[in-house]
Amino acid sequence: MSRIYDRVAYIGLGLIASSMIHAGRRAGLQGEVVGTARSPETRAIARQDGLCDIVTDTAAEAVRDADLVVLCVPVGAMGRVAAEIGPHLKPGATVSDVGSVKRAVIDAVAPHLPEGVHFIPAHPLAGTEHSGPRSGFAELFENRYTLIVPDGEVDPTALARLEQFWIGMGANVEMMEPEHHDLTLMVTSHAPHLIAYTMVGVADDLRRVTDSEVIKYSAAGFRDFTRIAASDPTMWRDVFLNNKEATMEILGRFIEELMSLQRAIRTGDGDHLHDYFTRTRAIRRGIIEAGQDTDAPDFGRGAKGAGE
Ligand code: NAP
Repeated sequence: MSRIYDRVAYIGLGLIASSMIHAGRRAGLQGEVVGTARSPETRAIARQDGLCDIVTDTAAEAVRDADLVVLCVPVGAMGRVAAEIGPHLKPGATVSDVGSVKRAVIDAVAPHLPEGVHFIPAHPLAGTEHSGPRSGFAELFENRYTLIVPDGEVDPTALARLEQFWIGMGANVEMMEPEHHDLTLMVTSHAPHLIAYTMVGVADDLRRVTDSEVIKYSAAGFRDFTRIAASDPTMWRDVFLNNKEATMEILGRFIEELMSLQRAIRTGDGDHLHDYFTRTRAIRRGIIEAGQDTDAPDFGRGAKGAGE
């Protein structure tokens, strides 16, 4: 694939940005790579590793002359970054982001972008529980979906370029509306993370009672929960604070379902339990048939790119 953007600026140099840099380089999609991060430590690592061609101290400097700017910071920091870069963007540039929540990011970012700049939000559905500039790898987006989530009409040429960029990094690209995105991702990713955090929290409480048995005898299910619950605390705090409505809706339904199972167990309604578990098993089969996971029995441990 040939070069799509002459100069790409990454704001934030963590798992997603560093994976995009590796994937983009491997496919020759980007000319010059400019990057910046909040802390001097991350910028020093990026310089030392040659992660970017240029590492700047500020976001304002990083975006100068960039054809594509990708915001790769936690959802709650997007608005502040947009306010900083707004006045320095090149006319005709595309600004995108990789935030896990879309409506709140659009509302926080769009007001700061000048006329003539194309804002095209996106969300790669790929991740791991690791973070930072050394956690990225070129294969992260392969055969994973990246959702492009514009808020209404966008320039078709700018959209086609961004789409090609993600396809070049190995992703399957689809379009989605912001509200639909936030509800869908709440079901497929955000609520499961909240449940994993809760389950591991409960086990941590139990550990105090039973010493280290929870760790010692941890079976597959619990170990998978601990992997998910090891995800970055800042990222996930911001996801829930910025997707409140969908969180409330899905948690409400989850609690109802949990109570129906509780009732079935209390009243000995084995048919209800069996029917329920049969239905959920079929969903797992559907995911495997769609090529979004393997049926290897050790799913979740050591599998790269299984997150989000
Ligand atoms: P990460 O590895 O933790 O990196 C985050 C980067 O943002 C770091 O460079 C950090 O700078 C910077 N940052 C943190 N707080 C900031 C603030 N208040 N102001 C400015 N910069 C700040 O995170 P990531 O996993 O790449 O996630 C980045 C974005 O991608 C998030 O919006 C997340 O929702 C989204 N996302 C994540 C995943 C996933 O599974 N991880 C998947 C899809 C999308 P320092 O290093 O200097 O602290």
